[in-house]
Amino acid sequence: MSAFLSGQVALVTGAAAGIGRAIALAFAREGRKVVVSDVDTAGGEGTVAQIRAAGGEARFIRCDVTRDAEVRALVEGCKEAYGRLDYAVNNAGIEIEKGKLADGTESEFDAIMAVNVKGVWLCMKHEIALMLAQGGGAIVNISSVAGLGAAPKMSIYAASKHAVIGLTRSAAVEYGKKNVRINAVCPAVIDTDMFRRAAETDPRKAQIALSVHPVGRIGKVEEVAAAVLYLCSDAAAFTTGVALPVDGGQTAF
Ligand code: NAD
Repeated sequence: MSAFLSGQVALVTGAAAGIGRAIALAFAREGRKVVVSDVDTAGGEGTVAQIRAAGGEARFIRCDVTRDAEVRALVEGCKEAYGRLDYAVNNAGIEIEKGKLADGTESEFDAIMAVNVKGVWLCMKHEIALMLAQGGGAIVNISSVAGLGAAPKMSIYAASKHAVIGLTRSAAVEYGKKNVRINAVCPAVIDTDMFRRAAETDPRKAQIALSVHPVGRIGKVEEVAAAVLYLCSDAAAFTTGVALPVDGGQTAF
């Protein structure tokens, strides 16, 4: 158990797969109680089963992050289950674009913004309220390198991830004196289903993805989880409002 994680309870949204599952497993390995949340019940229960099989403590609460009532119930569920919420990782996100900006559709725009922006805002709103009531906490939002610069053929996604950083920075300033730290992590291409789906749709995208990282490979989910746990830890007690690239050097250009 890490001395640097003084809190006991972590919530991870979008934790049925990919980066979210890796973050949930990492918290559990550090001995934290984990609330695993997702719209995918089977995947979420799978994450809980993996945590329990390794001797950890977790439970699944289904939540669509685009629905205020469901997010409110999720945060209340954390309190009911484990009494508090020390760490919240707002990771649920989607990308469904297939072309350039002028090829995008209204329904793509609405769907991406609903999950990636409204979802993160709703989660922060309810998590912060609980953290203020209990005296503090740490939140990490999963943005992207697409939140720091251009993302060709992913313009709506890029706008949504820039918005996540705007929410992160503003809230970090608003709640800095209240012992609630709020940071973002900006991964480059990470080996998950999201990347594999994009690679199937556009094989050239996959090829380009391999070439844009100065370290010469795409990232691993565990490498994103490690950055998230650092930002939650007491080692990052003086760090709030940052957007930390985990990008194999991509944004160094
Ligand atoms: P993924 O598709 O493997 O997992 C995303 C999870 O979010 C899924 O389990 C899905 O069911 C869940 N989800 C989708 N909509 C939801 C909703 N409305 N409510 C609750 N849960 C919902 O994706 P991933 O690659 O693990 O991505 C996780 C996060 O990391 C996303 O925010 C993504 O934008 C970001 N990201 C991913 C990469 C990458 O290369 N994979 C790079 C940068 C940022």
